[in-house]
Amino acid sequence: MKNLSERDKKHLWHPLTQHKTAAAPLGIVKAKGAVFWDEEGKEYIDGIASWYTSMYGHGNEYIINAMTAQMKQLDFVLFSGFTHEPAVQLSERLLPLLPNNQAKIFFNDNGSTAVEAGIKMALQYHHNQGEKRDTLIAFEDGFHGDTFGAMSVSGLSSYNGPFADFLLKVERIPVPKEDNLDAVVSQLQDIIQKNDCAAFIYEPLVQGAAGMKFHSESGLDTLLELCKKAEILCIADEIMTGFGKTGKNFASENMKHKPDIMCLSKALTAGMFPLSITSCSQEVYDRFLSDAVSKGFFHAHTFSAHPIGCAAVLAGLDLLESPEILERRQYIKNAHEQFIAEVQDHPKVGNARSKGVILAIDLNIEMERYGNLRDKLYQFFMQRGVILRPLGNTVYILPPFVITNVQLKKIYDAILEALETF
Ligand SMILES: *Cc1c(COP(=O)(O)O)cnc(C)c1O
Repeated sequence: MKNLSERDKKHLWHPLTQHKTAAAPLGIVKAKGAVFWDEEGKEYIDGIASWYTSMYGHGNEYIINAMTAQMKQLDFVLFSGFTHEPAVQLSERLLPLLPNNQAKIFFNDNGSTAVEAGIKMALQYHHNQGEKRDTLIAFEDGFHGDTFGAMSVSGLSSYNGPFADFLLKVERIPVPKEDNLDAVVSQLQDIIQKNDCAAFIYEPLVQGAAGMKFHSESGLDTLLELCKKAEILCIADEIMTGFGKTGKNFASENMKHKPDIMCLSKALTAGMFPLSITSCSQEVYDRFLSDAVSKGFFHAHTFSAHPIGCAAVLAGLDLLESPEILERRQYIKNAHEQFIAEVQDHPKVGNARSKGVILAIDLNIEMERYGNLRDKLYQFFMQRGVILRPLGNTVYILPPFVITNVQLKKIYDAILEALETF
């Protein structure tokens, strides 16, 4: 009998993979808490919560039980013309946690489609008023997903080349830092003046795929203020930052100016189910109310508001602010800060930073995003039973909240060893 990796090769096509040169994928047979087991029985610590999703750990019984009960009660019903308890309850429980101008919840099924819906909402918001606004504003190096609208606003475009001629109109600005704010502000003013801008989309405070790059809270607030004055809708993409990763429940809580639209996915369902949300303010929602049917938002995904996904969200919300999880969030934050103090003077360490449970270290080693040396570093961690996916020369940890102290130390030790090896 061939193993999973070998059987995989015959029929499967993986994301983000050049199959001519890529190593075979690893067959995973089991997961619990922060640990995976491969088909040989070897253990791996999930140092990135499977792309920032499984924050309460894999195989979480509490969430599984809630989903199982929901599946037995009502598995699925289309969400156009029908509603159900998990979706209603989700809106009642999630909105009080979001910035207090958020009033309505629109469901999608993944991060990119949440962004897609957000962009379409913003474009139609202006259209419904009889205004043609055709330009979107986004940060350089941002990442918002891989569907066409989301790809258009993503600044990490190294792999979007074949599609460059088919994208929406986007103007890009650098993220605000302590030392460039005046320049960014004048660039934004210039863009606003020269274009009909519909929306500004941003990953608040942390750009995930760019390599966990941080930017200034007050700087972002200034940019939001400028956009709001010009009635440019602000779309916070909290697909990565949401649900406690940056310290607060949502990164947008750090700014005075609130987003008009928010995109949520990934940890939304604790990694248990594909589901996403595009929330918005009452003002945005009201712009779609009309006696003309065509002013409504005619966008739908078959699995919108899937009851089993909603049940996972509700169970996750029970855990997010439970004493046990709050303790873990604080522990990881403190441990990260201590680890940074320990490594930041190492000659191989460039910038080392942390925010909440996110830790990132830029290595003083030249590496391409998916280059050879980067792959060696990835394999180095895998051999030590630690899953980290360096982004170029940035090594980052974003562990499940439930990671144990011993497991977290094992990740730090693997990084220390890498600093001596590479
Ligand atoms: C992952 C991610 C997306 C895309 O979500 P998918 O579910 O992969 O389509 C969009 N924005 C941010 C910030 C993300 O981290």
